Amino acid sequence: MADILIEDGKISSIGESITVTDAEVIDVSGKVVAPGLIDVHAHLRDPGFPEREDFRSGTRSAAVGGFTTLLAMPNTNPVCDHPVVVEYVLAKSKREGIVNVLPYSSITVGQQGEKLVPMKAVVEAGAVAFSDDGQPIMNGGVMREALTQAKEIDKVLAVHCEDRGITAGGVINEGYVSRRVGVKGIPYTSEAVMVGRDILLAEETASKVHICHVGCARSVELIREGKKRGVQVTAEVNPHYLNTTDENLETCQSRFKIKPPFGTRADLEALKEGLSDGTIDIIATDHAPYTNAEKQGDFATEAPFGLIGLETALGVVLTELVATNYMSVSDVLKTLTCNPARIFGLDKGTLSIGKDADIVVIDLDHEWFVDAEKFQSKSRNCPQHGRRLRGKAFLTMVKGQVIMREGTIVV
Ligand SMILES: [Zn+2]
Repeated sequence: MADILIEDGKISSIGESITVTDAEVIDVSGKVVAPGLIDVHAHLRDPGFPEREDFRSGTRSAAVGGFTTLLAMPNTNPVCDHPVVVEYVLAKSKREGIVNVLPYSSITVGQQGEKLVPMKAVVEAGAVAFSDDGQPIMNGGVMREALTQAKEIDKVLAVHCEDRGITAGGVINEGYVSRRVGVKGIPYTSEAVMVGRDILLAEETASKVHICHVGCARSVELIREGKKRGVQVTAEVNPHYLNTTDENLETCQSRFKIKPPFGTRADLEALKEGLSDGTIDIIATDHAPYTNAEKQGDFATEAPFGLIGLETALGVVLTELVATNYMSVSDVLKTLTCNPARIFGLDKGTLSIGKDADIVVIDLDHEWFVDAEKFQSKSRNCPQHGRRLRGKAFLTMVKGQVIMREGTIVV
């Protein structure tokens, strides 16, 4: 039990029974108070795809989920590969958004996997890290050069590991389910060979690499092994991989269509183990909105890969990891606060005096049913729809201002 005093948007004091006059008191006894959650993997779709999401809807969705800082992926139209686009994202998200939005720059121009972006210039404009997410960098030479250049400016490359030659038009995890439903499978090696390649390249160049959305057991082993050798590799898992497997695809619903594909129960268990032993550092959402019209296309050939998760991420991880006593609430919250802040060099993710009062209050016992129709997000492609979760953000605050209370946006 403690009090937190907030003045001018910053934390000014933390202690037992702080007494001040003229202060608004928010009583959250019985609940968990934590640094506002940081999502290092959000697709906010602006510029280019306002029918899927925009800064207003995406950041309101974040606020409901307890997130106060989002790293916006650059696979927009135009791609965020130039200082002008970085500045656009910063300015527009500030105007329309209600949480902090920090832009990624792409690694290669137009995410074409060939020519590197002007790394120093985009960082000076405000990009906090680099990613070609959505696209793999198939050319190892380009990846090696990108790692070398990113090292000079001490920035992280967040990589989408997929060998498109191995994916080869696959739709879901290759295995019993893909054969049973008659859909072309994606072998786990599509991901794992690229995870292996990028760990080796990071080792050789002594650079930092962050593996996005780890999906299979073999990748977890490779990352664990790389860390043991001292490679500067970090990794994230997305909440949906902790409660969904390829068995959910028996009915071929496109809200479960994603890359990397949902794996087997063994993959799911390996991801949980990776989180609990620190092999996987971060939980991030990979919130990827698509319209119903897009997702209603033919399952195998038309429906895009991707799903949303900002409003359910916390509930899913608390349900799977904390309510089951698999991990402590503080260990889970580290993967959503101080770990992403440390890895990406952000001055966030802690409750300390002098820091921005970005705070989430969590009700661990709140049981709720996910109803995607009620989301703040513009999109509905959520694999958690209809599920019962335990644990939810109760209140979200950015720079001392309450923006969400009991599920309702209050700004
Ligand atoms: Zn990706």
